[in-house]
Amino acid sequence: MEMTESQIKSIVGEVMAKMQLGSSVSGMHGVFTDMNTAIAKAKEAQKIVHRMSMDQREKIISIIRVKIKENAETFARMGVEETGMGNVGDKILKHLLVAEKTPGTEDIKTVAWSGDRGLTLVEMGPFGVIGAITPCTNPSETVLCNTMGMLAGGNTVVFNPHPQAIRTTIFAINLLNEASLEAGGPDNIACTVEKPTMDSSAVMMKHKDIPLLVATGGPGVVTAVLSSGKRGIGAGAGNPPALVDETADVRKAAEDIVNGCTFDNNLPCIAEKEVVAVDAICDQLMHYMVEEQGCYLASKEVQDRLVKTVFNEKGALNRKCVGRSAKVLLKMVGVDVPDNIRCITFEGPKEHPLIAEELMMPILGVVRAKDFQDAVEQAVWLEHGNRHSAHIHSKNVDRITEYARALDTAILVKNGPSYAALGFGGEGFPTFTIASRTGEGLTSAATFTKRRRCTMSDSLCIR
Ligand code: NAD
Repeated sequence: MEMTESQIKSIVGEVMAKMQLGSSVSGMHGVFTDMNTAIAKAKEAQKIVHRMSMDQREKIISIIRVKIKENAETFARMGVEETGMGNVGDKILKHLLVAEKTPGTEDIKTVAWSGDRGLTLVEMGPFGVIGAITPCTNPSETVLCNTMGMLAGGNTVVFNPHPQAIRTTIFAINLLNEASLEAGGPDNIACTVEKPTMDSSAVMMKHKDIPLLVATGGPGVVTAVLSSGKRGIGAGAGNPPALVDETADVRKAAEDIVNGCTFDNNLPCIAEKEVVAVDAICDQLMHYMVEEQGCYLASKEVQDRLVKTVFNEKGALNRKCVGRSAKVLLKMVGVDVPDNIRCITFEGPKEHPLIAEELMMPILGVVRAKDFQDAVEQAVWLEHGNRHSAHIHSKNVDRITEYARALDTAILVKNGPSYAALGFGGEGFPTFTIASRTGEGLTSAATFTKRRRCTMSDSLCIR
């Protein structure tokens, strides 16, 4: 059903009014005032989910898919309005991607060995209630995608979301529970608290009924989860470099890199955060970026003003700049540009703060390298050992292999925009929880299960 702009605005207004922070969230499924109650409710729901057939779980997931599609625009508008980050058009695409391509129960597989001594199965079983912490950069996308995978694996989930995105998160959690109820499943397959804090997070991390924690966010939260004494899946920060060598289709590289970098105003953790270009094609690449791809070439003076604006006095990121468009960022430093400017670029050394730091803004510094070896070394330095994502534009397979080995990241996109790794213009499934630090890589239903071996000795082999 097509909705008009004013209908969408009125829905967003209604939901926002209903969910003003501090006021009651009665009527919203899965939302509780305290973390212990949220966990107890999710535990009750998990007992039911565990007994459900795979078909029943899949039925809930298929209704979730329909509801996400119906509400993609509302989610996108709520996310942008509440966090001030990203852009509505790209956020709609992200929600449609989650709805259409997040794996469901087909991801849960059994391995079997049968032979002279009988039959052995390895099955993927649920952990129970999973405790998940989510970022403000992809708030509803992460909650929806995590829940679909966790539910497919037979789990329920309690979220301690970023407080800056609580209303959008609550809207997502309500939708997930409505889908479950519609499919004949239990309420509270996904739960949260009205006011998430560090304290509610600590309760979740220590709770006896939470056997698995999944943290999606910066280094602080991943370290906290990994220090909890429980099994932790850590999806941490990145600073993905895009290397371009002289064998690349330089014009296409410029297009792919700027498309990837500017997607949702550079919020995705996998997005190109800087470019390392070999000297032979560096000028040509920048020419295409500026002349054909809507990049604004920042002077030294504008770069200095940007540094002063995007970092605070303590050197931390100014949250008012994260996920803003190039036009807005430039306006903050007194530069007016036309609407077709979608990215800011300049050439600088790898140590330049706008290059070395993970900004999550469409600012794409270009580092010049004397040759391919030098480019690889600079890219390794820029990735800071996160082993998260890296990208390369080259036609030389040996070089691509060398780069992949040197960077050793969970994601490596060759000759395409970074979002191709999420199944968007590339093969494969999407996720917004890329377990870079703990090594599970792109998470899906199977990631949220534990392996159980079941052996029948000396029978049930009928070969
Ligand atoms: P953030 O680290 O500020 O917050 C993430 C979540 O962790 C929030 O819910 C926050 O409340 C919580 N948190 C932060 N410190 C905590 C602590 N010490 N103990 C408990 N909870 C804590 O990140 P953000 O700004 O919301 O998101 C952006 C960051 O997340 C970037 O670094 C980005 O690369 C990363 N990220 C990674 C992935 C991935 O899949 N690897 C996905 C999205 C975002």
